Amino acid sequence: MALNQFEILKKFWGFDSFRSMQEEIINSALNGNDTLALLPTGGGKSICFQVPALMLEGVCIVISPLIALMKDQEAHLKSIGISVASIHSGLTYYEVKCILQDAIEGDYQFIYLSPERLETKVFKELLPFLKISLLVVDEAHCISQWGYDFRPSYLKIVQIRESLPGIPMMALTASATVEVQKDILQKLEMQNALCFKQSFEKPNLSYSVFKVDSKLNKLIEILEAVPGSSIVYCNNRRQTKELATLLQLNKINADYYHAGLSAEERDTKQDLWIQNKVRVITCTNAFGLGIDKPDVRTVIHFDAPECLESYYQEAGRAGRDGKKAFAVLIYHSSDIDSLEAMTDKRYPPIPIIKKVYQDLANYLQLPVGVGEMQYFDFDMYEFVKNFQLDSYLVSNTLKILEQEGHCLLSENIFLPSRIQFQIDKESLYEFELNYPDLEPIIKTLLRTYQGIYDNSTSIFEKQISRILRTPVEEIQQQLKKLQQLGIVEYLPQKEKPQILFLLNRAQAEYLYLDQDLYFKRKKQYQFRIDAMLGYIKTTDKCRSSFISNYFGELTSQKCGKCDNCLHTKKTTLSSAQFHEIEIKIKAQIVDGISVNELLHLLQPNVSEDIWLVLNFLESEQKILISEDGTIKNTAN
Ligand code: ADP
Ligand code: MG
Repeated sequence: MALNQFEILKKFWGFDSFRSMQEEIINSALNGNDTLALLPTGGGKSICFQVPALMLEGVCIVISPLIALMKDQEAHLKSIGISVASIHSGLTYYEVKCILQDAIEGDYQFIYLSPERLETKVFKELLPFLKISLLVVDEAHCISQWGYDFRPSYLKIVQIRESLPGIPMMALTASATVEVQKDILQKLEMQNALCFKQSFEKPNLSYSVFKVDSKLNKLIEILEAVPGSSIVYCNNRRQTKELATLLQLNKINADYYHAGLSAEERDTKQDLWIQNKVRVITCTNAFGLGIDKPDVRTVIHFDAPECLESYYQEAGRAGRDGKKAFAVLIYHSSDIDSLEAMTDKRYPPIPIIKKVYQDLANYLQLPVGVGEMQYFDFDMYEFVKNFQLDSYLVSNTLKILEQEGHCLLSENIFLPSRIQFQIDKESLYEFELNYPDLEPIIKTLLRTYQGIYDNSTSIFEKQISRILRTPVEEIQQQLKKLQQLGIVEYLPQKEKPQILFLLNRAQAEYLYLDQDLYFKRKKQYQFRIDAMLGYIKTTDKCRSSFISNYFGELTSQKCGKCDNCLHTKKTTLSSAQFHEIEIKIKAQIVDGISVNELLHLLQPNVSEDIWLVLNFLESEQKILISEDGTIKNTAN
């Protein structure tokens, strides 16, 4: 008998109940509606589509922007016994074909798909034969030109939608302003969708912003005041390392993380932090995706992010367990100047964009009129050095070229080389007779990798090189030759980031850039920067409602916990009264005293006033109130 949604939740995930909104979202999909779900990061969006997909017939297609995210979810679903495959740019034509053919046979319950794969011929050919339960667009804000993370390939989604009439669609995102929400509905042609939105307020999270002369001192002060797991975000890679070292010198257990480290190093560092063997991780915004650590007590921004979307997402990694947590932003007056200068850096003048495009084509030695759908190794460092460019300028120009649909910079993710044989066994035998110098490598491939003849298989050139006692470069040459001769399809390992040209190379002066759009995006970007600045500078508005309002929530309720709320509250007591209670508290506090004892000792002051001062001291990280109600004095 078919299971209902509660039984599915229990059977696969072991959870007893749905979180707020999940059930409504699931029912909407089960009733065949298009659905837009806006839930904060960590709110449990995946279950919203995974549960109904398991109840509906057919395979659920999930469009997702990052291979790293797809791999996480794939691994998780597999671990709970659900059949799933991923189709991304790291796969060969044959692999994609096999996955889709298996899916047509009904082998998969989920297929995760990179949006740029939507246009692949084999996908278009086989799509009509697939029985699809639900079409899911995860991280749906990527479809909006006005959002903070626009990915042009998301615009292709609507095309498959047109060839799949009647199939319900679900779009999910954690951060969308009202404008972006409208854009999602319009671009995905789901105007009749039911929309579900969870509040952006996080009742256990206390936001605060500190303007200081020494950011480092403040950072140390906070980390000493609030114990427990912590993430410290900064804007550049070098600084992550420097900060970790400085914290260690101050006897704070810290390590650093950024995307420039090898996958192995990153995994190790991440694991140590997750297991609480490392307390503080200083990192760039590359850290945190797909991580679900419940007991993070502080997320500290050592540098301000570019927009509130990012800030909210990153800050929201604190306190997932629902216990008290702090989101702190530390800044120096010079940081404001840098933020104000961002827009012109992020959107360089058009002639400069064209010049970088020209340099790029020269660097890749790509003649005019070719290059469409070709991958190239791209070493940013080398490029910047050879052409004496500024790396920030280059990466921003690449982003613009990406938004304009000219090229795509791939993720730096480890994918081993792969081989797929293209001819039958008899022809292979004949081939070996004609090309005796390639016979050893063919034999080695067949012997070393079981099933290689029938499936696309990961291979390791180093291993073959050891077996044949031949240099790796020579092995790679031979594999390339086999590919040229049509014997195998060889997909070399991509160690270096790849740049994919989506269009043929254009003559730089004729490079098509939609100027209206460029200026509109630039303006939109400025708007986001302004909002970030507004958040930093505001001293009288509740920070939690500032964020909620930014995301279109019309709340006027104050959180009562952010620095601004506490300052306002403080003024409900006269400063003399406040000071008097503060002195009394300080005189009475010994480590381990409970709030109740203190309230008792401080009579006749009323407990409300005492609480007010306590909360204030806690927000200043002068004291810490633990869950069992005991107070620790952290001021020195
Ligand atoms: P999002 O995509 O919204 O950021 P995820 O779907 O990754 O969030 O879920 C975050 C975490 O919440 C996961 O560890 C998930 O298992 C957990 N979770 C989701 N729904 C529930 C639930 N109903 N009960 C308990 N845990 C849940
Ligand atoms: Mg998610």
